[in-house]
Amino acid sequence: MLVRVEGTVQGVGFRPFVFRLAMEMGLKGFVRNTADGVVIEIEGGEGQDFIERMRADAPPLSKITGVSCQVLPHFGYEDFRILESRHDGRFFFSPVCPDISVCDDCLREMRAAGDRRHLYPFINCTNCGPRYSIIERIPYDRANTTMKAFTMCPECEKEYKNPMDRRFHAEPDACPVCGPSLTLVVHGEPAGVSNPIETVCRFLIEGKIVAIKGIGGFHLVCDALNPDAVQSLRERKRKNNKPFALMAGSVKIIRKFCEVGIREETLLRSVQRPVVLLEKKNPCAIPDAVAPKNRYIGFMLPYTPLHWMLFDEKKRLFEALVMTSANISEEPIVIDNAHAMEALSGLADAFLLHNRDIHTRVDDSVIKPAGKGTIFIRRARGFAPGLVKLPGEGPEVIGAGADLKNTFTLTKGDSAIPSQHIGDMENPRTLVFYEETLEKLKNLYRVRPEAIAFDLHPGYFSTSWAQKQDGLVKIGIQHHYAHIASVMAEKGLRGPCVGVAFDGTGYGTDGTLWGGEFLAASIDGFERAGHVRPFPLPGGEQAIREPWKAAIGIVKQAANGDALSLLSKIKPFISRHNLENIKVILDVCDRPVFSPLSSGAGRLFDAVSALLGLTDVNTFEGEAAISLESGAEKGNEDVYPVDIGLKNSPLVLDFSVTILEIINDIIKGRPVGLIAAKFHNAVAAAIVRTVERISMDRGIRDIVLSGGVFQNSYLLSSVLRLFPSNLRVFVNEAVPSNDGGISLGQAYILRERMKKP
Ligand code: ZN
Ligand code: ZN
Ligand code: FE
Repeated sequence: MLVRVEGTVQGVGFRPFVFRLAMEMGLKGFVRNTADGVVIEIEGGEGQDFIERMRADAPPLSKITGVSCQVLPHFGYEDFRILESRHDGRFFFSPVCPDISVCDDCLREMRAAGDRRHLYPFINCTNCGPRYSIIERIPYDRANTTMKAFTMCPECEKEYKNPMDRRFHAEPDACPVCGPSLTLVVHGEPAGVSNPIETVCRFLIEGKIVAIKGIGGFHLVCDALNPDAVQSLRERKRKNNKPFALMAGSVKIIRKFCEVGIREETLLRSVQRPVVLLEKKNPCAIPDAVAPKNRYIGFMLPYTPLHWMLFDEKKRLFEALVMTSANISEEPIVIDNAHAMEALSGLADAFLLHNRDIHTRVDDSVIKPAGKGTIFIRRARGFAPGLVKLPGEGPEVIGAGADLKNTFTLTKGDSAIPSQHIGDMENPRTLVFYEETLEKLKNLYRVRPEAIAFDLHPGYFSTSWAQKQDGLVKIGIQHHYAHIASVMAEKGLRGPCVGVAFDGTGYGTDGTLWGGEFLAASIDGFERAGHVRPFPLPGGEQAIREPWKAAIGIVKQAANGDALSLLSKIKPFISRHNLENIKVILDVCDRPVFSPLSSGAGRLFDAVSALLGLTDVNTFEGEAAISLESGAEKGNEDVYPVDIGLKNSPLVLDFSVTILEIINDIIKGRPVGLIAAKFHNAVAAAIVRTVERISMDRGIRDIVLSGGVFQNSYLLSSVLRLFPSNLRVFVNEAVPSNDGGISLGQAYILRERMKKP
């Protein structure tokens, strides 16, 4: 019988798995990779039994999407063999495997005294270890990875060549005799210690900061429960309040600090090993400097053998370590030994290096549970370069992405290939990383793009980059339309749908700053069906960095005349900013050239955060909104009024009355938690009412939510709860709803429009 298997079945140990299964079941025949997937021929047993067991026991990294069978005449095979791949000159479209956390079998060996890989920090097998980060080109053979620098010793080679061994064709296979090794560097010199990990642990206990080379880049590491160490890391590295990610050795320990339900535990333990944002317990022994003004702490479990050695079960030296991406001033994460020692010399007291090169940089992924689902904050290690299925076959295109939290997306066949998180494009090094990664993914997946989609913002680096690409059809896609389209792509929707894009600010088709948008959208285009009433941002960009200025802008509009006397009643606000400064900003509001109008929903959250005294200045993108979400009391159902101009076309959501009532509550001394909750509830209710109206007027039942504001899980779960059941509501699951998802939306719109009729 001939069996064809489709899906993720190459480079994941599928053929040796089939071989072992056939041996066990006493079958004869062969298995081989072809351009159409894995082809297996079997004789001498029940075909159906074989298929059932193949489906049930398939290797953890494989994913079978289709199996077809054909009965063939008896050939009389004498044994079972793995045959050479046959591609007939065609491209075998198999996903490149992401980097996968070390498996239990390998951990067991690593901990077993007497095993030849006892305490070897680079142990791996067919089911685990680095992949995407070390692949230089396809096909996925050792010679095409950064492991080519290491010649296998006879013992490793024996395993590698034995189909019955769990390291059969494990390309990064290595042992202490032949594989990569660690070097500890202190003061620019190799420390010459016999056990570098032991020394690193001692440094960490002493409160030092160590740069440790990992899978997709370097981490800066310190003891998370040592407030002085955390504080000095923050001072040396960040100079802002951006949260640090933590690593702990077990879910049990994480539970000491944070709420971990079943879903959170599943995410923490998943083979992708993302950073999971968890709610802090009260009290929580983690120093506040780890994640200032934040309800959440990002935790992950160890994902390399080296990490596990830091958290040695018997010694239990630390409960949690800070593991933050090693970079300077928001440049891409450092991956190269020499560059690390130069760039991080002022940040780290010591360097734990290894000599396996990282070919492609991949940051840690970040996921946040919300309602019944999860939201991606950052999609990178463990997930990239995985595919997103699109409806049907289509042309090959590029979505260039936006400038903040950039990713790009390629399409090929029936799939989209979103890149890992690239970063903020204003940084010249980020652009280099962008171009490198684009070239690499084009080669790995053999994509030859015909066209490119980009943001309408004329000042975006991604836009001017896209416009310089010769030989491609070019099309600009409006920012919030692309947000909506990212969900449409994931769900295979063609529209019409009502898309709610609540976001910071993006460039609108009329040249103003949008960001609180209700779009009636389909593949062919969109109509602005509603939006937040634009309010002045005094100083433009400045008001985005300094929410207290956005607050003055919206109060100016809400007060309709006497903003100064209203603001002067908020005593803490006055004492923080003083009346003179406020007067100046109010004057700026009157000069349209210096105070662009914006409907950005993110700015509304910023403004309320500043009025409540939570965050006056954003030291990183989203800080004010995060502190507002973190401050909101749970379980409160009170709500502020919002004016929805139903007669207008487009509909206009006016938050003036909301702001006035908030100020009233502040003056009355109502608790911040209550006001923040009432505000969230008001926004949620206003969104749902507006959507219902648009849906009724236009007869559209598919609703799509996207944009960075929906990373606020308080808001997202409230909105989802309020929608009536006759509407079908879709949100991002495969890519972030923030600007990291823009490129998928751009690519999807372009690809669908280019499909031949
Ligand atoms: Zn393994
Ligand atoms: Zn070896
Ligand atoms: Fe956006």
